[in-house]
Order: sequence, then C-alpha cells, then structure tokens
Amino acid sequence: MEDLLMRCWAEIDLDAVGYNLTEYKKLLPRDTELMCVVKASCYGHSDELIVPYLQEVHNVEYFAVSNIEEGIRLREMGINGDILILGYTPPECAPKLHEYDIIQACTELSYAKKLSFYAEGRVRVHCAVDTGMTRIGVTGTPEEQAAEIEEISVIENISLEGIFTHFSSADGVDASDEEYTKMQAERFFRVNEILEAGGIRLKHVHIKNSAGGAYGYGEGSTLARLGIILYGLYPDPKKPLPFEPKPVMALKAVVSQVKEIEAGTAVSYGRTFVSDRKMKLATVTAGYADGYPRALSNKGTVVIRGRKCRITGRVCMDQFMCDVTDVEGIEVGDEVTLMDKDNTADDIAALIGTIGYEVTCDITARVPRVTVSEY
Ligand SMILES: *Cc1c(COP(=O)(O)O)cnc(C)c1O
Repeated sequence: MEDLLMRCWAEIDLDAVGYNLTEYKKLLPRDTELMCVVKASCYGHSDELIVPYLQEVHNVEYFAVSNIEEGIRLREMGINGDILILGYTPPECAPKLHEYDIIQACTELSYAKKLSFYAEGRVRVHCAVDTGMTRIGVTGTPEEQAAEIEEISVIENISLEGIFTHFSSADGVDASDEEYTKMQAERFFRVNEILEAGGIRLKHVHIKNSAGGAYGYGEGSTLARLGIILYGLYPDPKKPLPFEPKPVMALKAVVSQVKEIEAGTAVSYGRTFVSDRKMKLATVTAGYADGYPRALSNKGTVVIRGRKCRITGRVCMDQFMCDVTDVEGIEVGDEVTLMDKDNTADDIAALIGTIGYEVTCDITARVPRVTVSEY
C-alpha cells in the first residue's frame, strides 16, 4: 500500500460485494433482473472500484445513480448498460441525458414537458409513481396517475420506457409496515394494469429495493434496485435477512502517539473525559473530517492488536484518543481498526442513533478507498 494512504483509509472488499450480489440474486424470482444502486459513490464505498467490477465480473446491466454527474462518471468509466438517475436533473440538462444515453426519473407531467422543451434528441425516462413514500412521482388515484403517465408517453422527444415506485417501509418490523408495503405494491401494479388496458406496455415496471427483494414484496417487479445489501449492510438491522451479508468497508488509521496519564487527567476538547486511574492512551489518526462521527466521543470502540479500546473524550477533526491500558506492545504506527466486519457501519450507527447508510456515505473524500481484491 502506498505510504500516503497510511494515515486513514478505507479497505473495500470486492469479494464481499460479489458474495452479497450472488446471494441476493438467489432470493429473486427468475424474471427479476438486478439494478445495482451505486449512487453517492456506492454509498461511500467508491464507484470507481465497485462499478467496473460489477459490470465485468457479474455482468450487471442496470445501474442507478442519484444525479447526472454520477451518471456521466459511470459512462466515462466504460459502463455501457442502462443508467437510471433516481433524483433530479435540471431540465436544461436534457441534451446531456441524450448525449450520454442516461435514463431520467420523471416526477410528473410538467417536468416531462420541460425536459422535452430543452431536449435536442430523445430522452429516455422512467416515470416515478407515488404510492405512499410521498417523495417524488405522479400523484392521485391510480386512474389519475395512469392518465398522467399516458400524457407523458406521447410527449415529443420523451421516450417512456418504464415506471417505478419506492417502498417506504419494506424493512419495517411491525405488522403495519407489512400492510403498508403490500398496499404500495397493489397500488403500483394497479396503475400498470390501467396503462396496459390502455395499450401502454412498458419494458420496466419496478418496485423492489433491497428490502423488497429480500422479503419478497412487489412480485412482478422487472428489476430489483439493490442498494444497501450489496454493501453488506442491513436495510434495518432489527430485521434479519435470509442470508448474512458481508460488510464491504473496513476503516483503518494508525497510532501516532502513546502516553501514560495519571488519575485525574483531562482528555480532549471540553474535558469530557477525566481519568479515574493511571491509564495508557493512544492517539489515533482519524477524525470527523474523515467522516468518523464526532458522536462517537466517549462511546465508540476501535481495535488495536486484537483488543477493543474505548474512545476517551471527544473525537477531534483529524485525531482522537483511546484507552490502550490493556494493549500490550502497542507502538506508534500500529494499525487501528475503526470499522470492519466485527464492528460494522450498522453497529456504529446503532451507537449514535443513525443508520449504516449514513455512516458509510459520510466517510469523506480525503479518505482513500483501496482494494486488495484482484479480478
Ligand atoms: C436509494 C434507493 C434504492 C436503494 O435502496 P436500498 O435500501 O439501499 O436498497 C432503491 N430505489 C430508490 C428509488 C432509491 O432512492
């Protein structure tokens, strides 16, 4: 590994990506294809490392991103499958969508008209249908939604190839979550039935996210938009999955100093930690500017030489301290594991009241992503 990486870095396990994808596929009906959701640089894991691997080794043909820059990045990496933008693209960018042959999520009729206005060639779209997420998509009764989609389908330069909707609670553990998820699926396929009755047959009608696919919701979906499980994390760790996904990211740093402190010594900003005994502390070379959450102050643990060490005091921008009293032989330069398969982004998230998705997305750009996997 290059010397410059040895302060704070993320190790990306492509074999784990492959395992998660392969196991997930087994849960899908045969006619449901995979669309890998690689937005936000693969939820912080690095699109550059992962997306070419998905195409070359696993023949993935469908990708979803959040915006046009991400889509263009994929094309420039040599991705030649379908790329769907799940989020907003300013309609002025319609010519770029055409140029790079990227599919745009269409939120409603007025947006489709604007895209058409700016288009200098065919723009492919999948129309979003709001079935209960209340985020994007055509609204109203299924009849009204179908009517709006029908209008979109005949707009000049707009090529309607699919419709999709998004589950809000497919990972929920309550009976009401199951009920709500089934209601969303019913509504969605009702819209499609009305479209088909009106002679509109679409190539893609998709509803499954990671959780939807894992728990068998939304049968009939032509695509499963696989996101979080691809990265080895849980849609909701409270709800078991049919297989145990392998976490893809490990976050590492090093020890920059080791010192002994007397009882009564204050540690880090605000003196939130004061030792009650003689201790040995290590300073670690990562902080919240690397995306290591400040909320882990006095809460998180790291592993050095196989031993769990508690964070002492506040996490600083680029450094933090931890208790290494019981770590024998510790030296400056020792590797520190901040996150790995035994202390996953989901585990860290649980400590600080968020979700694994946010923990990995928040690892900042200054942290190099490296992989040791060969393919
Ligand atoms: C992010 C996203 C997904 C993937 O969700 P996961 O929970 O990570 O599987 C699927 N569909 C849409 C519309 C999304 O925005």
